[in-house]
Amino acid sequence: MFENLSERLGGVFDRLTKQGALSEDDVKTALREVRVALLEADVSLPVARDFTKAVQKKATGAAVTKSVTPGQQVVKIVHDELVQVLAGDDPNPGALKIDTIPAPILMVGLQGSGKTTTTAKLAKRLTEKNGKRVLMASLDTNRPAAMEQLAILGNQIGVDTLPIVKGESAVQIAKRAKQQATLAGYDVYLLDTAGRLSIDEELMTQVEQVRDVANPRETLLVVDGLTGQDAVHTAENFDQRIGISGVVLTRMDGDGRGGAALSMRAVTGKPIKFVGLGEKVDALEEFHPSRVAGRILG
Ligand code: GDP
Repeated sequence: MFENLSERLGGVFDRLTKQGALSEDDVKTALREVRVALLEADVSLPVARDFTKAVQKKATGAAVTKSVTPGQQVVKIVHDELVQVLAGDDPNPGALKIDTIPAPILMVGLQGSGKTTTTAKLAKRLTEKNGKRVLMASLDTNRPAAMEQLAILGNQIGVDTLPIVKGESAVQIAKRAKQQATLAGYDVYLLDTAGRLSIDEELMTQVEQVRDVANPRETLLVVDGLTGQDAVHTAENFDQRIGISGVVLTRMDGDGRGGAALSMRAVTGKPIKFVGLGEKVDALEEFHPSRVAGRILG
């Protein structure tokens, strides 16, 4: 992820750091190029604009242009601003609220976004890294294949799934998952809700009903990072209707641009908690804004 953006910015900053002295115009020109690079990475226009404005404000003035290493100062300001845009004021956005026993986590998103795979990846992570006892349940009553898929993944990673009972509604499954998780002493239960190809009323109503029954500690939207600004719009829609606590961006292994990651927090106010970096069940990474900023700046 971010390879293209990283390369473009690398070129801009190489030139800047090689120059001994910097005028305010040099900084302005470089920031214009930064803005173009951000837009090419599919970062939303207001976010790109605000970003360069904020850097400009901090980078002009004697402290930078008169310093011995002005180019490096500008890079440092860009780095800090990237962290700000990625994280807001939350240095550890990946932390999950697991403070009830059992703690329900609602997984929502469009069909094909990688929701079921991500549910399994997260379950594996919570089991292996956090030592939690996890139960997964599929609520996709319209697609028996999706329910089977979760059961297969559960078998593969050694995480229990709620037995499938034919004819139950999503709400009934959510209630049974809660009961089972409570009775059998699970720490966390993950509810993999149904997805549709686009946002529609039926989907949203069903997810709302499930949310009201489950009272989730986290509601994670799984969204395809390759869709760039569309991913951000999807997050806005889900947040307005359901209220999400965070985002998992999938397919970031295939996204050299990374625009969705850069716009998400600024546009929706919601943190990216994890990124999906492949089809395998361990290809899930916690989102660390400062590490990501470092990666972007090479
Ligand atoms: P759902 O319909 O939202 O539940 O989507 P699935 O979990 O079935 O995933 C759809 C496809 O995307 C599957 O082939 C997954 O293996 C693939 N997939 C999911 N996450 C990632 C990811 O982070 N990277 C890549 N390359 N593929 C992914």
